[in-house]
Amino acid sequence: MNFILALVIFVGLIPAPVKYSDGEGVNVRQKVVVKMDGKAFRKDVSGLEPFQQKEAYRLTISKKKILIEAATEEGVFRAKTSLEQLQRGGELPCCTVFDYPRFANRGLMIDESRSFKGLDFLKKQVDAMAMLKLNVLHLHLDDSAGWRIQSDAFPLLTGKTAWRIGTTYTEWEQGGYRFSSEGDPLAYGGYYTKEQLRELVKYAAERFITVIPEVEMPGHSMEVGYSYPEVLCQLEDGRRHTGAWDLCPGSEATFTFLEAVLAEVMDIFPSPLIHIGGDEATMKTWSQCVNCRRRMEEEGYTDVRQLQGYLVRRIERFISGKGRRIIGWDEILETGVPENAVVQSWRGVSGGIKASAAGHDVIMSPNSHCYYNYYQDLIRKEPKAVGELVSLRFTYGYEPLAVGMDPKHLLGVQANLWTEYIPTPQHAEYMLYPRLFALAETAWTPSGAKSYKAFRRRARALLDVFRSLGYNTFDMDTESDLARSGLQRFPPEGTPIPVDDEF
Ligand SMILES: [Zn+2]
Repeated sequence: MNFILALVIFVGLIPAPVKYSDGEGVNVRQKVVVKMDGKAFRKDVSGLEPFQQKEAYRLTISKKKILIEAATEEGVFRAKTSLEQLQRGGELPCCTVFDYPRFANRGLMIDESRSFKGLDFLKKQVDAMAMLKLNVLHLHLDDSAGWRIQSDAFPLLTGKTAWRIGTTYTEWEQGGYRFSSEGDPLAYGGYYTKEQLRELVKYAAERFITVIPEVEMPGHSMEVGYSYPEVLCQLEDGRRHTGAWDLCPGSEATFTFLEAVLAEVMDIFPSPLIHIGGDEATMKTWSQCVNCRRRMEEEGYTDVRQLQGYLVRRIERFISGKGRRIIGWDEILETGVPENAVVQSWRGVSGGIKASAAGHDVIMSPNSHCYYNYYQDLIRKEPKAVGELVSLRFTYGYEPLAVGMDPKHLLGVQANLWTEYIPTPQHAEYMLYPRLFALAETAWTPSGAKSYKAFRRRARALLDVFRSLGYNTFDMDTESDLARSGLQRFPPEGTPIPVDDEF
């Protein structure tokens, strides 16, 4: 066995395929033959779910020939991705791969509001996602720290709040949440034009990745009220709650705003799912607001929280009227939402369990396992992050099908990258790789075929490939004993850390 071949076998595939069998010898780049929807292949995938049939492929590499069998172009694309991963190093090992995904939705969310990283960065991550057979890019495009989508109906969103004073989120926060405008020498920020977003949607679609936009409401919306105060709650003397975190669900101006913006967003993004946020509304100003009080009276509400349900249901009607479906963070479950709304579980796994029991489809992205803005190793060794430990081994061990959950309702799994403490594209990549490899394997590979030991070896090799392609990654070779141990979160002070020589 020569060195190149050893490297090829060492690289292996991430995510691990459903079935892999070794053949004899190597193939020296013979041409690829694609066979769509052959009889034998159709029979082999006939028992699979429709979403699995769509992406399934068989890749047969013999000394003389490379054969790809699939039912769709998407299946062919997945096969070619595997082929590319296998052939890094020059020669191809003869083998047969039969493969299809475990989950339909395999995603990554990137927060472009807290730090703005731009189109080149997003395209580069789309390339990485395609390599990992991920298929959903969820973009968090607006939040208090900056609005990032061009809007013709409400141009002040980008005119007044796509730029801020403070390069980092912390500087902005400590400086008193000040906004600025393009051209100000102190301004930090930016936004995507519609043309850029359409370009991204097309680029992603060519790689069978759907881009889901998120328009956050009613919380996390300080920037909207700054540009358009009519969406803010109003006191009896007519003054507005300047600087408020939440939109006013009592005022019609809020719905005029949201519907116009959502119409523009749906025009750019053809995704079947539209994310409406829905998390962490403080509801502080609602009880003092004349418009909210009037709405409560009209609707017969006794608790301000019911106003959140009102807003979500009304927006759901608007979005479903346009032939799309809403997805929201798990808080939307608490105040009543139609059964066809998809719930994204983030506060641990309980939201997902409750939602599926109530008949909702769910996407699992629990902060305990899938928040890649959390520390991946010791606090003293890592750049400032959010408090819990989500090591590579720990995130790899995540099983999305929680006890008590109906598998029919589990659409998939997603990693989230919030960027309060992640100011640059390089830093974002450092937090994503290799943890996103683990997410990809959890999302694609049958749970019984997962093995951390085997994965770690493949991940270490793929990390070198990522570095050679210009990605900035975490260094697996300097992982601490704590991270290697895969312990859940940071253990209490003084807990002995078992040293695991295997990793
Ligand atoms: Zn109000």
